[in-house]
Amino acid sequence: RAKHIAIYGKGGIGKSTTTSNISAALAEAGHRVIQIGCDPKSDSTTILRGGAELPTVLDSLRGRTRPRLADISALGFGGVLCIEAGGPVPGVGCAGRGISAAVDLLERLEVFEEFEPDYVLYDVLGDVVCGGFAVPIREGIAETAYVVTSSDFMAIFAANNLFKAIDKYAPSGGGRLGGIIANSLQLPHARALIDDFADRTGTEVVGYVPRSTEVAQSELYGQTVIEAVPYSEQAEIYRHLARRVVADHEGQLPKPLNGPDLKDWARGWGDRIFGAETVVVAAQGQR
Ligand code: ADP
Ligand code: SF4
Ligand code: MG
Repeated sequence: RAKHIAIYGKGGIGKSTTTSNISAALAEAGHRVIQIGCDPKSDSTTILRGGAELPTVLDSLRGRTRPRLADISALGFGGVLCIEAGGPVPGVGCAGRGISAAVDLLERLEVFEEFEPDYVLYDVLGDVVCGGFAVPIREGIAETAYVVTSSDFMAIFAANNLFKAIDKYAPSGGGRLGGIIANSLQLPHARALIDDFADRTGTEVVGYVPRSTEVAQSELYGQTVIEAVPYSEQAEIYRHLARRVVADHEGQLPKPLNGPDLKDWARGWGDRIFGAETVVVAAQGQR
């Protein structure tokens, strides 16, 4: 059976960029890959296909006839089969339902049997890991989940929420954690902060991806770094990450922080980064 992997993270944190570069690296290494965008934004796979859009599964299900695979997929870089689950009509319906509907349709169309993928990557929005967005791990569709985070606290909070969801569902057959992917590293403290969060939650950082102009530039051409600048250091970093994903077998059970502990932890880091005095002086000035 193919290995099914979900990549979670807060909106805008770099899920699609990271997922697409991993897919591209896996394809380049000779693996058969399916990438399924599970973010209502539906732009997960654009840099695998020259920036082109793809009709979504949810949109196609609104039509009169049952969609065929050709209607909802396209081959991208290295033969990666690209699919976008899509989202509900704004204000109506559940985004998570789109993910279930997409997976159901792919099963009915026997895509997994016919394409015979080695890896299926799900790129999932994780701002809130509600029941809807938890679908890939909740139902054990993906056996392993990774979370992309920067050193921004909101992104870390989203990662902590994913850990809570994993802990909830893993005992009943849900997915486990592969690890943390630290993205957009730029500030001097970023790596230490994410390492410390991993330490506190009993998890592991599986890759450190620096912030790079090559990512932004490649994106303008609708390409991954693997495709646009294959000999760059950044491409090598994504290949390393892909090899790590291949090598991982047993996922972990994270130990998420509770609300007050997470706040204390964040405040401690905030004081170290910004200097405790600024806040104290400002607070005194207000009296
Ligand atoms: P998400 O899928 O989580 O919403 P995206 O992958 O679309 O986020 O990334 C958001 C933006 O950040 C994109 O413009 C992308 O090019 C940029 N980005 C992501 N990772 C990096 C990086 N390591 N270096 C530079 N830019 C990045
Ligand atoms: Fe939205 Fe999640 Fe509720 Fe579905 S379960 S409607 S995705 S908040
Ligand atoms: Mg995205």
